[in-house]
Amino acid sequence: MSMISLKHEYSDQLTNNMKSQIDLRNNISLKEYNTFKISARAAWFARVGNPGQAKFLAKEILPQYDRFLILGGGSNTLFAKSFDGLVVHMAMKGKEVLHEDATGCRLRVAAGEDWPEFVDYCVSKGWGGVENLALIPGQVGASPVQNIGAYGREVKDVIEEVHAIDLKTGEEVSFKNEECHFAYRDSLFKSEKNDRYLITFVDFKLHKEDEFHLDYGSIRDEIRKSKEAVSYQSIAEAVKRIRRSKLPDVGELGSVGSFFKNPVINEDDFELLREQHPDVPFFKVLDGYKIPAGWLIDQCGWKGYREKDYGVYPHQALVLVNYGNATGKEIYALSEKIREDVHSRFGIHLHREVTFVE
Ligand SMILES: Cc1cc2nc3c(=O)[nH]c(=O)nc-3n(C[C@H](O)[C@H](O)[C@H](O)COP(=O)(O)OP(=O)(O)OC[C@H]3O[C@@H](n4cnc5c(N)ncnc54)[C@H](O)[C@@H]3O)c2cc1C
Repeated sequence: MSMISLKHEYSDQLTNNMKSQIDLRNNISLKEYNTFKISARAAWFARVGNPGQAKFLAKEILPQYDRFLILGGGSNTLFAKSFDGLVVHMAMKGKEVLHEDATGCRLRVAAGEDWPEFVDYCVSKGWGGVENLALIPGQVGASPVQNIGAYGREVKDVIEEVHAIDLKTGEEVSFKNEECHFAYRDSLFKSEKNDRYLITFVDFKLHKEDEFHLDYGSIRDEIRKSKEAVSYQSIAEAVKRIRRSKLPDVGELGSVGSFFKNPVINEDDFELLREQHPDVPFFKVLDGYKIPAGWLIDQCGWKGYREKDYGVYPHQALVLVNYGNATGKEIYALSEKIREDVHSRFGIHLHREVTFVE
């Protein structure tokens, strides 16, 4: 008998003994658990509903598996094939106001809460700080992982502390904002310690005093068009309208939004690029010049490309899509071709934003 089947036999006993404590199932379809709508399956699937279960999982269950993967809403995950290990799905719910005064509030939010609903909740209460991040799919617990960002704001701007279970020890751990090593679409939880910590709660610091961020993209114009007064609510609604006009609705078309990060290049490379392409769009950032990856991909002629059921979204070249029955491998292979093309034309390496699971 192989190692793996021995382990699964042991897990069968665990499943029976501990069903009351944790929901552990086998051979589960992941199609509804990833926004690319890839038809992959999980050999094992555990739903974590509270911190006690998370600790129990870390101490008693994970050691029995060769491989595991943390999954939130699956809106930044691409499955190449079925996953032969244990998928740990975050299902913790709840929000708690830790402190509130005239200027703002501090909130503790469970990792399994839906991010877009959380944003709606905050703006309905008149709490500012997350309105520019409206309609980003996924869970609250995943928001620090890649430091989600949009329209000039990043979640690091409002995170005070991240609470997690250390999956190696089963102990509770907390990270202050500066300990999370937040960077552009990156954090300690993504690049340095991927799959080490199961995030259970995130503490946010939000404000009530008017502090609006309208300068990025067309938010200001969109609010002007709607003739609404500027408020956290009207900013969130403007962001939603803009996003709906540019990005595919995940209910209709499989995608993970931006597939690649926008590359940052140094001054010399930027000057060279601008000599050859005077119309290149860019944003000056601390460590160089950020070039929109969508523009680079578009220049290579990929926008609107389609083969079988996979392709590049016709309205935004940064978004790869599944028109129905694409496989994760097909989408990954397309992303490789695009990377090679952009590199051979511009000498710029594109890095994937998505978590690729083989
Ligand atoms: C249409 C569309 C638009 C998008 N627009 C944006 C955008 O504007 N800006 C942006 O930043 N992103 C965007 N995204 C990407 C995605 O919404 C975010 O990355 C989101 O935070 C992913 O959340 P999730 O719960 O679906 O994560 P998942 O895909 O489930 O997981 C993503 C990663 O986080 C890890 N993870 C998830 N939950 C936990 C947890 N509790 N503890 C530890 N690790 C965890 C996973 O292991 C995985 O590595 C978009 C996606 C789509 C489909």
